[in-house]
Amino acid sequence: MIVINKRTKRVALLTALLAMLGIAILYTAIPDEKPVKLSQNELEENPLEDNTVSYMYDIPVDSFDVQLHRIASGESFGKLLNDRGFGFPAVQEMVFAADTLFDVRKIQAGKSSYFFTPLHAADTAPAQFWVYEMNPIDYVVFELQAPYTVRRGQRELTVRERSIAGTIESSLYLTLQNLDVSPALAVSLADIYAWTVDFFRIQKGDAFRVIFEEKYVEDSIFVGVGAIKAASFYHGGTELYAFDYTDASGNREFYDEKGNSLRKAFLKAPLKFFRISSKYNPKRLHPVLKTMRPHLGTDYAAPTGTPIMTTADGTIEKVGYTSGNGNYVKVKHNSVYSTQYLHMSKIAPGMKAGKRVRQGDVIGFVGSTGLATGPHVCYRFWKNGKQVNPLTEKLPESNPIPEGYRSDFENFIAPLKVKLDNLKVPKQHSANEEFPLAVN
Ligand SMILES: [Zn+2]
Repeated sequence: MIVINKRTKRVALLTALLAMLGIAILYTAIPDEKPVKLSQNELEENPLEDNTVSYMYDIPVDSFDVQLHRIASGESFGKLLNDRGFGFPAVQEMVFAADTLFDVRKIQAGKSSYFFTPLHAADTAPAQFWVYEMNPIDYVVFELQAPYTVRRGQRELTVRERSIAGTIESSLYLTLQNLDVSPALAVSLADIYAWTVDFFRIQKGDAFRVIFEEKYVEDSIFVGVGAIKAASFYHGGTELYAFDYTDASGNREFYDEKGNSLRKAFLKAPLKFFRISSKYNPKRLHPVLKTMRPHLGTDYAAPTGTPIMTTADGTIEKVGYTSGNGNYVKVKHNSVYSTQYLHMSKIAPGMKAGKRVRQGDVIGFVGSTGLATGPHVCYRFWKNGKQVNPLTEKLPESNPIPEGYRSDFENFIAPLKVKLDNLKVPKQHSANEEFPLAVN
């Protein structure tokens, strides 16, 4: 943590002023203020900034000579300290002291480290602290004298809100790159919209607006994307809003502007009226083949011709016929879940790979094609490419905003929505007229 001492800053300004007047004045002439040193690194980065720093890594930097040492290729912790005059027993003590806090074998070439040597000590005096920066946030401080303590710390993070708007030309990733936004934001957006936007099928002309956070250390070094506060995605002719809202009982969820959760739940069954005739059973005796064959689906018996519904929004992945499955349809819901519906007497018209379907859409009709003893739909549920039992699997739940929190929610999102709507989406290069973003 770095503390900026305002008083020191004032004194430094005063000193500069007096120096301009030709009066030679030294810091030492002001007994209660100490001279200030910046690390080489900081001097390189802000040569003339008046950020007078009195602490670095919680070390009172004023009383030390600070030397930047970048870890050289192949340089070990032992060599690094041996070169500075520390013998084997001392190095061993430090390794013990670091224990589980820091594995000294993990120091990496190119990383910054700092040696702190007491200012008024002799030239030959050993350094008192060694600080290694693991990454822009985390560091570890070794005290190089007995009792050889080691501690870890973190630099102060600042979070800044940023608002962006973009139109997709080829990919979300490239559009974000052009806006100078970390591609990590694409991952977060894909997560929020997993149930509503198929990110593999983003179309040219789709547009987005996002209000999100960026994290910095010391106000200038970007270290990552933080939370998305609100977003809107113009996709397939509709504007899809997402607001990050935490209610008073602590439930955090992304909701659309009407208070519906962006996560969707599956329908309990692909039929409205049914009887479960066979459950998911990895050790079933097959009724037709009369052999032990796992049954990886759930069978819902219903009269031939009963409409079969997709249990969640998605994209048709496959439509086909095999001797076992009969006529079947497979629907991909997002990167995790797919469902499959077998033994259809007929596949609904218009079903083909790539077609977008909404929860409850009729995709086919009950039958007994393929290996089936009677009319039923065998419902198969895929999670990350493996078949699972949907009746026992913990599946995403979808609850709208609880009524008690609705007015709070509406007050919360109102200014965010105004802010989003006012973000100007750049026109497509190829488009000749205004981009129709306000469609809802
Ligand atoms: Zn089955």
